[in-house]
Amino acid sequence: MPGTGVEPARSFTSTATSTRRVCQFRHPGRYGAGQYSKSCLHQHPVGRRNRYFSRPVSSTPPPNRPSDPARPIVCKFGGTSLAGADQMRKVRDIVVADPKRRIVVPSAPGKRTPDDRKITDLLYLCHDAAEQGLSFNEAFGVIAERFGELVAELDLSLDIDPLLEEARLGIVAAAQAGRGPDYAASRGEALNGRVLAALLDCPCLDAADVIRFDAAGRLDAEVTHDALTSALKGVDRAVIPGFYGSDIDGHIRTFSRGGSDVTGAVVARAVNASVYENWTDVSGLLTTDPRIVDNPAVIDSLTYRELRELSYSGATVLHAEAVFPVRAAGIPVNIRNTNAPDHPGTRIVSSKNAAPTAYPITGIAGRKDFTVINIEKDLMNEAVGYVERVLAVFSRAGVSVEHVPSGIDTLSVVVADAQVEGKLQALLDELSRTIEPDAIDVDPDLALIATVGRNMKTQPGMSATLFGALAKAGVNIRMIDQGSGELNIIVGVNAKDYETAVRAIYAAFIG
Ligand code: ASP
Repeated sequence: MPGTGVEPARSFTSTATSTRRVCQFRHPGRYGAGQYSKSCLHQHPVGRRNRYFSRPVSSTPPPNRPSDPARPIVCKFGGTSLAGADQMRKVRDIVVADPKRRIVVPSAPGKRTPDDRKITDLLYLCHDAAEQGLSFNEAFGVIAERFGELVAELDLSLDIDPLLEEARLGIVAAAQAGRGPDYAASRGEALNGRVLAALLDCPCLDAADVIRFDAAGRLDAEVTHDALTSALKGVDRAVIPGFYGSDIDGHIRTFSRGGSDVTGAVVARAVNASVYENWTDVSGLLTTDPRIVDNPAVIDSLTYRELRELSYSGATVLHAEAVFPVRAAGIPVNIRNTNAPDHPGTRIVSSKNAAPTAYPITGIAGRKDFTVINIEKDLMNEAVGYVERVLAVFSRAGVSVEHVPSGIDTLSVVVADAQVEGKLQALLDELSRTIEPDAIDVDPDLALIATVGRNMKTQPGMSATLFGALAKAGVNIRMIDQGSGELNIIVGVNAKDYETAVRAIYAAFIG
């Protein structure tokens, strides 16, 4: 749940640390400390290369896929769904309740309580120690104990000790060979896959054999598709551990943190699943941040695009890279709650399959910690290439730009604070030198709020309601930006007004 440190996904973050609009993939802290986001959310049009997909992802599903009603369901279970024996039993009940749930993708065991340790975090610690030639017995001992307990409490005949020993030796070997933390990090899923398969009494495929990365560490979608198709032939039900695969040298590679979502999506696409179920510990995506609005409604369905807009603005749902494979194949994603399996959760679908929404908007998300750099220059509108030169300064400084609202002779550049930390003055000096503005000033403490909804396009009065609600709440709007797809309206407000503004918008549209 948000704020409890139990499971970071399917909720909203309130800080500006999670995502940015211009392509810049961010790996969240390896140890899951502080705010955690699975997202990078740069726009990767279908058919283009992205972080993990080395070959173009075409918009038409590959041929030779079964299209009969018996298409399987792929279900991925997150760390809290598999944190202990009781949770594992719930997972078993969910899986066996529907024979179509044929492919099960587990994460590593997560936290049982907010103070607990995630197995993956401990594994990264093991690697760090091994890399320095230090003992990692303590951290590994905790891992071994957790798995030992799981097997014993579930009364499984699985002999976990040799698997643990193999993992321990592998961590040493990978560290000594200078191969980075991927092998160590992957062992949580690898071991948990074995436990879950024993519980479900089905085979566990080694993800190293079926999830394949190219030499550059990007997923090779075609090789993976072929490997999965042949490995799953004639198999009724199988477990495929999430988060990792192997590269062309046979070395283990992982996705970025939270990457079991990506495995689930890749597998769903490869087997042409009827739905990709993503099981977690909340009943779907909420219409807004529950730390700001009490008990916000659950979004029953939203489109892939709406999800991207909401995620960009702070809602953490799926790992950003998980959307691409399923969207390309038109496979719906269903976010479900392992602790409330009867709740229908949230469905993420393509726009043509989107059902009417219960409210005029789909959701509200936002982030604080933005800075606006305002530039004034007489006759800016007539100066050819001026905007390009301004943005080139930001690009040279490695600063990712969020929004560029403009007037006739004015241009504002909105950036996340983290982007300009320690380099704002140098950036301003460079701007003054290169583009010779009449005036330039900096406005800190901006919060951005995105009101997202596929229905906004066709309904008159949406912005009137939005701006009216903010005016009534006494919130001054500092910036307005409406995306070209009319899927959202983004407003910039003073950071101190952020919560008031979100509550006002929620009350106006949702209740
Ligand atoms: N266990 C990995 C992590 O903690 C991957 C996942 O859970 O999806 O990031």
